[in-house]
Amino acid sequence: MHELGYATELVATLEELMVKEKLTEITEVTLTCGEATGIIPKYMYDCWPAAIEGTKLEKCLLKVETVPAWGRCRDCEERYVVSLTHGRCPKCGSEDYDMETGYEFEVTEIRGR
Ligand SMILES: [Zn+2]
Repeated sequence: MHELGYATELVATLEELMVKEKLTEITEVTLTCGEATGIIPKYMYDCWPAAIEGTKLEKCLLKVETVPAWGRCRDCEERYVVSLTHGRCPKCGSEDYDMETGYEFEVTEIRGR
C-alpha cells in the first residue's frame, strides 16, 4: 500500500498551491488517477485523514476518480483497455502491448477560497 505516500505528496502540492494562489482554505479536491498507477481509491480515502492531519488542508474533502489504462498491441496496433482484457489483445490475442495511458496522477478540480 503506497497510497499514503501519494496522499502526502498531494497535500504538499496543494499547500504550495495555496501559498501561490493566496488561498485561505481548500474545501474539496478531485484527484484523477490512472489505473496503471495501482492507486486504489478506497485506500486513498482511508489514509487521507492521516495525510491532512495538522496541515492547512485539515478540512479538505478528497474525491478520487480513476481513468482506465489504455494499451496498444505491438502485433496488430489495436488499442484496448488493459484491465478489461487482462492485458490480452481482444483482436489478435497477443499479450505484447505498450501502455499508452494510465499513469495520470493529477488534480483536476479544486474548491477553495
Ligand atoms: Zn493485437
